Amino acid sequence: MRVQSLPEASRFRDNVDRRYITRLVEELIRIPSVTGQGDAEERAARMLVARMDELRMETSCQRVSAGGANAVGRLPGDPAGPVLILNGHLDVVPAGEGWTAPAFEPVIRDGKIFGRGAADMKGALAAMLGAAKLVHDMRLPLCGTALFSFVCDEEDGNRGVARFLADCPPADFAIVGEPTGMRIAAAHRGVIRYRITTRGCPSHIGRTDSAQNAIYRMIGVLEAVRAHDAALRRISHSLLPPAMLAATVIRGGVKDNMTPGECVVTLDRRLLPGETDRSATDALRAALYEAVPGEPPGIEPYLYMPPGEADTRNGQVDALRTLHREYYGGPAEICGFGATCEQAVFLNHGINTVICGPGNIDQAHTADEWASLDEICDAAGFYAWCIAHAAQLANPTA
Ligand SMILES: [Zn+2]
Repeated sequence: MRVQSLPEASRFRDNVDRRYITRLVEELIRIPSVTGQGDAEERAARMLVARMDELRMETSCQRVSAGGANAVGRLPGDPAGPVLILNGHLDVVPAGEGWTAPAFEPVIRDGKIFGRGAADMKGALAAMLGAAKLVHDMRLPLCGTALFSFVCDEEDGNRGVARFLADCPPADFAIVGEPTGMRIAAAHRGVIRYRITTRGCPSHIGRTDSAQNAIYRMIGVLEAVRAHDAALRRISHSLLPPAMLAATVIRGGVKDNMTPGECVVTLDRRLLPGETDRSATDALRAALYEAVPGEPPGIEPYLYMPPGEADTRNGQVDALRTLHREYYGGPAEICGFGATCEQAVFLNHGINTVICGPGNIDQAHTADEWASLDEICDAAGFYAWCIAHAAQLANPTA
């Protein structure tokens, strides 16, 4: 149902407070909120809570860990109406090498803002808050509630989003603002990482045979890993690259005249929607046990982020595409997202969720990371357009 009193999409775009959003991205980049380092994630959360308080939103700062907190804001509308969540993460990866300017001092040049987190994803946080400001400035009537979850710890264990969802009211739809260049991404691959260990008999190299050599035993494992990867790459998905498995780190042996007693390889497995850590691990175990005679290698999964895919059949994603077309023009095609993200966490909580945010994923985690300020500011208008039309997203068939 269309709310009749709403202005047209172009007025949303024209009324975006571009200066406010630009300053907010700069302010966010200046807080070096590297995951788990010091109290910077909490400082970023407190800053955003203060900004939301200025807009007279209902806010809370949720403590998640020592130094980590979420900023949660609520724009209340009709209490019987739909609940739309706009989500983004506060934390960033470390600066790393290769920057031509300090990573946490924002630089604006040629319409781009440079700094750690510009694309992943402080630009999106500023766009989402810019949407709240637009709703406030335009005094838009809201048919429901918009919830803003700006969470810590995304790049590590997703503890921030788990804390947010622990007492989040039932919600109808969520948008995760990871960088998609404002395309609508309906799915992403998950990841599981393993440590694989083979053992031998550590002794003088002249006195043992090759069967006791942990590094030689790993050769069979790696051949099996490569064969398993080739099989996985035949599993396709309409929006995503295939499933895959790769060896990424290898370590073994202690001295050049000793038979290595242990060899450890790290594997990175990308999962398609429908796969789980259990199904992936069972398949890997079968592949490795079959290929390696004798004592089976140790298989230790140590990190898991599930894959996710929005429900595209209930009409919500099509409703979002319609809103996207109305705001941006163009075909609003659905794509996949090229990294792990919190979409799966929302989906597993029963909230249909897509990924749509400013910036390019290729910029994430790179030196001289940047994002387009125009794209960020236009995104604010789009998010506000979605908030204003949340009823269509919540209940597209009504
Ligand atoms: Zn991200």
